Amino acid sequence: MLVLLVLSALAAALVAGKAHAYLPADDGITYRYTREQLVAMYPGTYFFAGPGGTTKLALTFDDGPDDQATVRILNILKENSVRGTFFLIGKHAQVHPAIVRRIAAEGHTIANHTWSHRNMARLAPYQARREIKDTQELLERLTGHRTALVRLPWGSASPEVMELVQKDGYRVIGWSADSHDWLEPQPSKILAGLDAQVRPGAIILMHSIVFPGTQEVTVRVLPALIKELKAQGYQFVTVDELLHIPAYG
Ligand SMILES: [Zn+2]
Repeated sequence: MLVLLVLSALAAALVAGKAHAYLPADDGITYRYTREQLVAMYPGTYFFAGPGGTTKLALTFDDGPDDQATVRILNILKENSVRGTFFLIGKHAQVHPAIVRRIAAEGHTIANHTWSHRNMARLAPYQARREIKDTQELLERLTGHRTALVRLPWGSASPEVMELVQKDGYRVIGWSADSHDWLEPQPSKILAGLDAQVRPGAIILMHSIVFPGTQEVTVRVLPALIKELKAQGYQFVTVDELLHIPAYG
């Protein structure tokens, strides 16, 4: 019994440690602005939700593609006739070009989540620009589309990064509802958490890779989530449709 208790405590500590490692070490400094402040500072460039008074929602999937979770998510979206937005990491797209093409071919929006998922607020401007440019060029080679939407890793924004991205003609997309699928392995908790956060026009953050300790929870929860939100009268659209902005330049 004691051994079991010690083992489960160790497992919990390991999961917590990994989850913490996912956050930027200096998040207390880089989250200087709330999302409402970013909207006010960069109108027309920064968005974290669509207009209210709509029945539309956007599902967004970050950090892929991989050849496991992304494929299963695409299958589920297809079965349910739902389109989403995939914020892809350049170095992952390079490894899975066929999956990038499949995402585009099935009518989902492809967007830019930087090349290597570094804390953009901590990079020199030339490095930050390169993280986006290299990803944009690869995604354009693979799909023929020039991505116009960027999501900053962890949502970590600084005025320097925002101005650079704005100058290069991109729009920055945050989120209004976090599924916590990178941390929480229980579908019921994810559903309850989203139920409390989802409003008309919500942009929902999920992930299309597998995080350690979560047992591919995104894939397990997605069919129930789609069913529940459809039953509440919501329709799923891509982020660009929700915000009435172009997905590609
Ligand atoms: Zn990410």
